[in-house]
Amino acid sequence: MSSKSVRVRFAPSPTGPLHMGGVRTALYNYLFAKKNNGTFIVRIEDTDQNRFVPGAQEYILDALKWCGIEPTEGPAIGGNYGPYVQSERKELYKPYAEQLVNSDKAYYAFDSAEELDSMRENAKKMGMPNWQYNVVTRASLRNSLTLPQDQVNELLANNTPYVIRMKMPRNVDIRFEDIIRGWVVVNTNNLDDKVLYKSDGMPTYHLANIVDDHLMEISHVIRGEEWLPSAPLHVLLYDAFGWESPKFAHLPLLLRPDGNGKLSKRDGDRLGFPVFPTDWTTAEGELYSGYREKGYFKDAFINMLAFLGWNPGTQQEIFSLDELVQSFSLERVSKSGAKFDPDKTKWFQQQYLRSTSNEELAKLLSKYLNNGYDETKLITICRLMKERATFIQDIATEGSYLFEKPISYDEQTVSKKWKEETPALMKDWISVLSLITEFQHEKIEIAFKSFLEEKQVGIGAVLQNFRLLVTGTAMGPSMFEIAEFLGKEECIDRMNQGLIKIEILKTN
Ligand code: GLU
Repeated sequence: MSSKSVRVRFAPSPTGPLHMGGVRTALYNYLFAKKNNGTFIVRIEDTDQNRFVPGAQEYILDALKWCGIEPTEGPAIGGNYGPYVQSERKELYKPYAEQLVNSDKAYYAFDSAEELDSMRENAKKMGMPNWQYNVVTRASLRNSLTLPQDQVNELLANNTPYVIRMKMPRNVDIRFEDIIRGWVVVNTNNLDDKVLYKSDGMPTYHLANIVDDHLMEISHVIRGEEWLPSAPLHVLLYDAFGWESPKFAHLPLLLRPDGNGKLSKRDGDRLGFPVFPTDWTTAEGELYSGYREKGYFKDAFINMLAFLGWNPGTQQEIFSLDELVQSFSLERVSKSGAKFDPDKTKWFQQQYLRSTSNEELAKLLSKYLNNGYDETKLITICRLMKERATFIQDIATEGSYLFEKPISYDEQTVSKKWKEETPALMKDWISVLSLITEFQHEKIEIAFKSFLEEKQVGIGAVLQNFRLLVTGTAMGPSMFEIAEFLGKEECIDRMNQGLIKIEILKTN
């Protein structure tokens, strides 16, 4: 690594909510910075005013905050290299574009959008669908390379709209070493004369990105693979300015679960899972769900994202953010696309839920229920239900019978386990229960075992019907614990009511 201190940036464009792939890019930048005692910066790239979406910038910053990967420099935070929103740096870019014109690396182009459109149309008719403004075509277009200098001066003096374009050199191999992909070589004959500065007085992404990475002393550019095709132009721009280029690392794409294509923003909830970190409502009022609102813990979400394209080289899968920082390296990021796995995502959430203390879970559950439940009771409920839940809300739904009497009875158990002799057996079991003085799970279990012995019946004949009467369900945590939790009176009351209701079900 170079001796320069590590400074990396996440540079989203506020064109909509942040896709989870974007969060992964931010995460890898964050991990890389922390691992190398560097600085993680957020810069908002909003030079394309046509694609600006109100609320997107706030969304992005809020989502990063939720994920716990906040920048040390960025909008609203500040820093020595600000402002960190490109539209606020607007005035800064033009001299850089002009510097390139003066050094013959770029040129003014006066062709109107209509002229270029008709050029494209004509080319298409002649069987050339990919017409470009490039080293060949520029020779016959209206630009400062073809027009006499005094005419150029006049056009500029008259405020004729123009753009500044990169003057791609002819037939030059551009090479750079990508940390993840190795050497990349692209010949300039395959590249067009990209616009660097637009007629609306704004730089394009390419120019602003390079100028800002340079001014902000960015040491490593870590970004999605979709930017790889732009990298040769960027390398050339650093060269044209005479600046040292940062190191590049292009991250693998996130693929759909079936591996069929890239996981895009448009996939929204269409595939049955969110693609955004937090909820996003469009201007038209359409809601796209987010991991936060679905009930994912941020640590589970981050842990899952870290593994989309990276692995620690060991069997360990559960990593706190600090552990990720310690283990992360770009060398262990893979080249090939990372398939998103919604089941694995749930698995991570499950693991995190299980390892959260019952006290902590009870607090979250209380917040979710928003209804002043007794805290000690909630702690017990969490202890009983956490192995069966993925999300906090599952504790409430899966364990609904811990809050209220059952309203229905599992049909399969009723039809398979509820036999003719069951009511009498259950009534006897109720009598036994009513005699237990200390209604505590070990005591109930001891009584249960002697009841089976006395009646000479198997566990299946009693336990499942006991559960059915008390909870209405076929499965759950220890019935003895459930009984203790509900208390003797409630337990017996439920059993008596259940006996009546199930008999009615049976006769119908
Ligand atoms: N503004 C670009 C984006 O929206 C940033 C690309 C880069 O990191 O250079 O992803």
